[in-house]
Amino acid sequence: RAKEAGKNTYQFFDAQMNAQTFERLLMESGLRQALERQEFELHYQPQLSCDGQRLEGVEALLRWRHPQLGLVPPGRFIPLAEETGLIKPIGAWVLREACHQMVAWDKMGLCVPRLAVNLSARQFEQQTLLNEVNDVLAVTGLAASRLELEITESMLMHNPQEAVSLLRELKALGVKLSIDDFGTGYSSLSTLKRYPLDYLKVDRSFVEGLPDDEDSAAITEAIIAMARKLKFTVIAEGVETAAQSVFLANAGCAILQGYYYSRPLPVAQLQQWLAARQPALAEIVR
Ligand code: C2E
Ligand code: MG
Ligand code: MG
Ligand code: MG
Repeated sequence: RAKEAGKNTYQFFDAQMNAQTFERLLMESGLRQALERQEFELHYQPQLSCDGQRLEGVEALLRWRHPQLGLVPPGRFIPLAEETGLIKPIGAWVLREACHQMVAWDKMGLCVPRLAVNLSARQFEQQTLLNEVNDVLAVTGLAASRLELEITESMLMHNPQEAVSLLRELKALGVKLSIDDFGTGYSSLSTLKRYPLDYLKVDRSFVEGLPDDEDSAAITEAIIAMARKLKFTVIAEGVETAAQSVFLANAGCAILQGYYYSRPLPVAQLQQWLAARQPALAEIVR
């Protein structure tokens, strides 16, 4: 009978749902406790000048050191953190932790010129962001111009009016602003020009095909040329090869970030990476 079959299908679906719901609940409760259990850590990825010689800054990238799952990358828990609103306290922690780290490096004599922190949509909507940024700068004493906040195109599209005023207020504090993953959304450079942004990060998907894929090459060159005319400083992400870095430098990209230079590193390893480039400092990190 149809009713029988329907019932079986329903039961099967139900069991699957339960497993999914269970896993979600497990992740969610874990995520809820992760902050107080101090399971989050930040890794830092260097950004270099286009000749590969000078450190321009680092990007803070969040990881969750889960007792059973090991090191969980952000792609696996940030969507859930956003859905549940947990991203707000987590995002606030990231900002505080990373700024404190910058000041600690200053004290060690390790020169990290600039820090980039990723913001989530939920964090960007709230007015408390201004207070959080203001507070962390006051508490740490970090110069505002050394802090760069990364936002994405979709955060601007959602409520352009509100976004403009929030960005203006952030700029008034002295922080730098960048658009992350440019090219993956639907905004044009002319739309972006309405916002007070300093940096434009070309998405990894364009860099991937360089230098051989003709379309990637043409698009990347065009983005960089236009962005420069509009006074953005261009950063390329996902640089994995020497050939890509040469192509990007020739195309006018100012800053390069990617595995070719370094993966995102835990604090101790980043310090070693820095010291290896400033031999006089090798003693400090030992
Ligand atoms: P994103 O901001 O675009 O960060 C760049 C991602 O590309 C990082 O992945 C980085 O590890 C990876 N990557 C860097 N260089 C290369 C390369 O040469 N090749 C390849 N294949 N990958 C490279 P990760 O750390 O897994 O972060 C993924 C995304 O999670 C980030 O993308 C960002 O959107 C988000 N995220 C990370 N940390 C935070 C955070 O603290 N807050 C928020 N809201 N989002 C974060
Ligand atoms: Mg980013
Ligand atoms: Mg990015
Ligand atoms: Mg990206």
